[in-house]
Amino acid sequence: MDLAVESALRVAIMEWVRERAEANGGFLHRQELLDYRIGDRDLALIDFSRGIRNPAGFASTLSIVSSANGPYDDIEADDGLLHYAYRAGDPFTGDNRKLRAALDTGQPLILFRKEVANYYTPVMPVYVVDDYPEERAFLIALDEAFRYMGDLHDLPEPQRAYARRLAKQRLHQPAFRTRVLLAYDTRCTVCSLRHGALLDAAHIVPDTEPAGIPTTPNGLALCKIHHAAYDQNMLGVSPDYRVSINREVLAEVDGPMLRHGLQEMHGRTITLPARRTDRPDRDLLAWRWERFTRQATSADDAAHAAARRTVHTHQRGPSSRS
Ligand SMILES: [Zn+2]
Repeated sequence: MDLAVESALRVAIMEWVRERAEANGGFLHRQELLDYRIGDRDLALIDFSRGIRNPAGFASTLSIVSSANGPYDDIEADDGLLHYAYRAGDPFTGDNRKLRAALDTGQPLILFRKEVANYYTPVMPVYVVDDYPEERAFLIALDEAFRYMGDLHDLPEPQRAYARRLAKQRLHQPAFRTRVLLAYDTRCTVCSLRHGALLDAAHIVPDTEPAGIPTTPNGLALCKIHHAAYDQNMLGVSPDYRVSINREVLAEVDGPMLRHGLQEMHGRTITLPARRTDRPDRDLLAWRWERFTRQATSADDAAHAAARRTVHTHQRGPSSRS
């Protein structure tokens, strides 16, 4: 196949994967990936048994699968790069050969992270940036720039920090969203909205805190509006799973979004994941709840102070006019 045709196919495939994933909530089901067709050609996008997908006629690999509990030691090292283990057998033939070809051609690949059985989070484009025969692993980076950074064994700290930041944004956060959304059956835990594209995974303890790790018990599946309200402490979730709307918002008068979308959520119980191990951790909820209620208390104090000022002004009013 002509390289220009292959490149155009990759672009079209990645566009489709991105659109599908967005509509679903950031992930694709195995069957969607296996059933993919372009024009009149069947073109499965993953090879879930081997991990490396090398379609006939492609000069280099189209996609790779990486799973935390897979048969290979695909590790993300301290350098922020994915060390992708060679597949079994001769490192210079078969699947490994076309993955090595991607190192020469610089063609972008799709990395599918298998987070939950049968579900894949696409991360793309990714690039094969080096080959470590001593480790029997290819190095996969999220930015093409790593192809030109010289010896990756000895990367300066700023570049390592950049790689780790990229990994957090483009690998860990999407993976967290997939795990949390699937745990909650792709529904907002507060209002039950069921549109993956409108759902986020919210951290209970934010990821700027040491305890703010991207695990399902530190997550809540929330629609965009409830996520923003949660982050702004307009909406809280107590350790016994009750939704609370802050008093100021409860007292406001406005249109249907405020009334139905926020005020009517007050007092509801969140919908929990079916699996006990996926449920939100009560200690983490308590940590966050304490901040929500503390903020509510200070808002009350501010309201009382404002009320006192108003009374004061009224009392003073007539004398100041005279
Ligand atoms: Zn919602």
